[in-house]
Amino acid sequence: MSYIYKLAPYIKGCDIMRPTSTDYSDEYAQTVCDYYITDEMNHKYRLHSSKPKRLADCLPLTIKCPKCTSNLTPIDAPINSTDLLLYECRRCKKY
Ligand SMILES: [Zn+2]
Repeated sequence: MSYIYKLAPYIKGCDIMRPTSTDYSDEYAQTVCDYYITDEMNHKYRLHSSKPKRLADCLPLTIKCPKCTSNLTPIDAPINSTDLLLYECRRCKKY
């Protein structure tokens, strides 16, 4: 099972999402989180949502790296409407 970080906006309604570490299972995250990310190894993170989202819903989001708080960079397309973009942290990758 991959590690789950729930995402919440820094300020209500803004698009900058701050990750918080959890001990949630995938099933539980889907019931309590609007958006969350899973740790995919090699400084990559997959964005997930509890309700179906379109690409246009998640593209405006800026997601902070759980480790270093720099912005994650989208590197791969959504798998389906709830398993969304794949991101990587270029800063963690570099060091
Ligand atoms: Zn990072």
